[in-house]
Order: sequence, then structure tokens, then C-alpha cells
Amino acid sequence: MDVVIVGGGFAGAFLARYLGQKNTSSSEHLRVILLSKTNYLLFQPFMIEGIIGDIEIRHLVTPLRTMLDFPNVEIRRTEVQSIDLQKRELTTTHGTVRYDKLVLAPGSVTNFFGVPGARESCRQLKNLRDVLDLRAEILERFELANLETDDKRQKDLLTLAIIGAGPTGVELATGLHDYAFKTLVKYYKNVHPENIKIILIEATSSILAGFDTGLVNWAEKKITSMKIDLRLNSAVEKIEGNTICFTNGKTVQSDIIVWTAGIQANKLVKMLGKPLDCMGRVEVDPHLRLPGHPEVFVLGDAARVPDIKTGDPLPPEAQVALQQAKYVARHLKKGKGQKPRKPFKFIRLGRLASLGSKNAVTQILFLRFTGCVAWFIWRTVYLFRFKGIRNKVRLMFDWTFALFFDRDITLMK
Ligand SMILES: Cc1cc2nc3c(=O)[nH]c(=O)nc-3n(C[C@H](O)[C@H](O)[C@H](O)COP(=O)(O)OP(=O)(O)OC[C@H]3O[C@@H](n4cnc5c(N)ncnc54)[C@H](O)[C@@H]3O)c2cc1C
Repeated sequence: MDVVIVGGGFAGAFLARYLGQKNTSSSEHLRVILLSKTNYLLFQPFMIEGIIGDIEIRHLVTPLRTMLDFPNVEIRRTEVQSIDLQKRELTTTHGTVRYDKLVLAPGSVTNFFGVPGARESCRQLKNLRDVLDLRAEILERFELANLETDDKRQKDLLTLAIIGAGPTGVELATGLHDYAFKTLVKYYKNVHPENIKIILIEATSSILAGFDTGLVNWAEKKITSMKIDLRLNSAVEKIEGNTICFTNGKTVQSDIIVWTAGIQANKLVKMLGKPLDCMGRVEVDPHLRLPGHPEVFVLGDAARVPDIKTGDPLPPEAQVALQQAKYVARHLKKGKGQKPRKPFKFIRLGRLASLGSKNAVTQILFLRFTGCVAWFIWRTVYLFRFKGIRNKVRLMFDWTFALFFDRDITLMK
């Protein structure tokens, strides 16, 4: 049986790994074909550490071919362009692929919520190119600011606004604060530290949606003490060049604007012609299958899966994608004639957000941690999530190096 997986991200790559790894007697007949636009798995939770030089950028990725080196798994670097559910085939940039079972895990893209000017003026944080570009732009600004004798112009060059104070926005603001004040000001000697400004913008009344209130309060105090300009209740109406206009009539200027306010499902799932939610995610049944098509599964950021307890849709998170991959792997490896498995049930293991070096907030089951202890837990959890001994060693080396030496400031352009 040919199982075709679309997307080599958390859901797709880990599903292929589970299907290749435990090739039990019931799954011997499974031939897995993974179709992915990239030939690597990008560990998105570490993208910010790549920007600020805590982790070497090449170490943010794992080659799919080494991760999935199993006899029954084939990798094709190609882009899926369309899906024909009736004929059970996919059109890709490199020809047609037929399937018996299809697993769609194409992830998500940035959601600008139709805010005029946002797409044109903002940087995004979704892929490796975004990491390289944002890092280069920040260093470029410091180079220019270092040559600038006019104080006002230097301030303009060193102002950075982040729109969206969820975990990504918060980690980016605090990470960049650390990088700027602990590393960059040391080497850019004409830059006045008081000219560096980081603005964190949030439409709602608090940061880190979904986190425990005590942790949110702690994080807000920490951010304010870092002199990051936190603007709550500030919904963005439009962006004109480098001017951010709020619905309350106020404006703010920033030379660099990063949009971390939301995501929407990859447009590939729109082609299925099934109901989508407000984030463009396709609705699936309790077994993660496309309604009316038991041979098609949708996983990760592209699927709308209600939480079995609350009925609320599960958030777009790596831990959701990983648990779904494991669930579908078990389903596919099951021999014929067995009872259908129980519906998919997400078990939240915790929530983690770093707040710059040696600071974080974490909640694990009913336990809450802040500061250095939370930061240590944050790193330990991610170290265990990183697959492969080689990757773990590289990560530990990068982190240890960043603890004792200055982060890299090379502008590679
Ligand atoms: C900056 C950042 C930080 C994050 N931090 C955390 C965190 O700390 N904790 C957490 O739980 N989650 C975090 N997330 C969210 C998490 O990374 C996602 O929820 C997770 O990656 C979703 O997995 P996925 O497999 O659905 O999509 P992805 O991992 O995005 O993978 C999708 C894959 O599909 C491929 N693809 C797309 N279209 C096609 C096509 N047409 N043809 C072929 N291939 C295609 C893409 O190239 C990609 O490889 C973070 C996300 C970002 C952006």
C-alpha cells in the first residue's frame, strides 16, 4: 500500500519516521513516499535562537534523508500543486503521484488578517529564508547606525517593532533585546544604547495567550523591566511604509517591522473543497480523516481538530503535530479487520516561552516555573525533542558556546 505524505515538517517527517522506524509485521506492506518542498526539517521553535546567534543557523535543520533513512521510506523534493480526490492522485512540479492513503501536512503561512500594507511592509518568521533575512537586516541596521552621526537618524535605524505578543513575538522581542544590549553594543562602538528601541505590539489586553495568568503577569513585568515598549490593546489598522497606524488613531514609526500575529493553513487544503475555519484549516473527523474520504488524513497546522474535552480547536503547535503523527502512524500500521482506534486525544504536556537569556516561563502539567529554573527546563525539554545524537551534541555545543563567548555578529550578505 502506498502512503503518500505531503510536507516534511513536524507532522509529516515524524509520521514518516514512525512508519519507517517500527516496521512491524503489520506495516511491512507500507511504502511511504514523502513529498516535501525542502529536503530538510526546520525546527521552528529555534528560529529565534538562530537569528540572535545562540544556535548556528545550519543547526536549525535536519536533512530528511538522514532522518528518514529507512528501506520503506522514499523522499521526493517537490512541490504539490493540486489534489484529485476522485482519481487519488497528486500533481507535483515533477509529475503525478498516485496514493492509496494520503496524509496532508503542508503546515501554514503567515496570516496578515487583511491589514492593508502589512504584507508589503512586514517581515515574517516562517522559514529558513526569513531567519537569514531578518538576521542580516538587523546587522545591516547596526552597521549603518554605527556610521551615523545624526542622533535622530541613528534612533530611526535602531527601532524595531514586533506585531503580535504570542510566544513567538515575546521570544523574538526578548531575544533581540539580549542580542542588542549584551552583544551588539559592545562591538558597534558608535551606537548609543539609548537609541535602541524594541516595540512589542499586541491587539488584546495581555501577552502569551493561553498561558497561566500568574506567568503572564510575571512575563509582562519582566518585559517592562527590560524597557521593551510593550503596547497592549493596540490593534493595527494599517501600515504605510514604516508607519504603523492603530485603530485608536495613534501611530508609531519603525524601520523594521516583524509580523508574528497569526497564521493560516497552507492554501493546498482549500483545494479539497471541504469546509474551512477562519484560519483556513480543514475540518477533520475525530480520527483526523477528511469527512467522506477515510483514505485521507490531515495533520498539523492545516487541520482543524477540536479538543476532545473543551471542543475548542487545538492550537497550531509542534506538540499537537507530533502527537497527531504518532496517532496516524498507529492507525496506518494496524492490520486489516481490527476495530477503529479511539478518537485522537491531545495531551498537553506544557507551555514554554523563553524571555531572553536565562529567563523563561514554563508550565508543565500543574507545575509553574519562572526565571532561571524555567529557562533550564525550557532548554532541557527542547534538547529531548531534538532528534538524533548528532543534532543533540551540536545543539549542546552551540548553547554552551553562547554561554561563555559572545554571539556571532557576522553579516553574511
Ligand atoms: C518562529 C516559530 C516558533 C515556534 N515555536 C513553537 C514552540 O515553541 N512550540 C510549539 O509547540 N510550536 C511552535 N511553533 C509552531 C510549530 O512549529 C508548528 O505548529 C509546527 O511546525 C506545525 O507542523 P506542521 O507539520 O503542520 O507544519 P510545518 O512544520 O510547517 O511543515 C510543513 C511542511 O510542508 C512543506 N510544504 C508546504 N507546502 C507544500 C507543498 N505544496 N508541497 C510539498 N511540501 C509542502 C513545507 O515546506 C514544510 O516542510 C513555532 C512556529 C514558528 C514559526
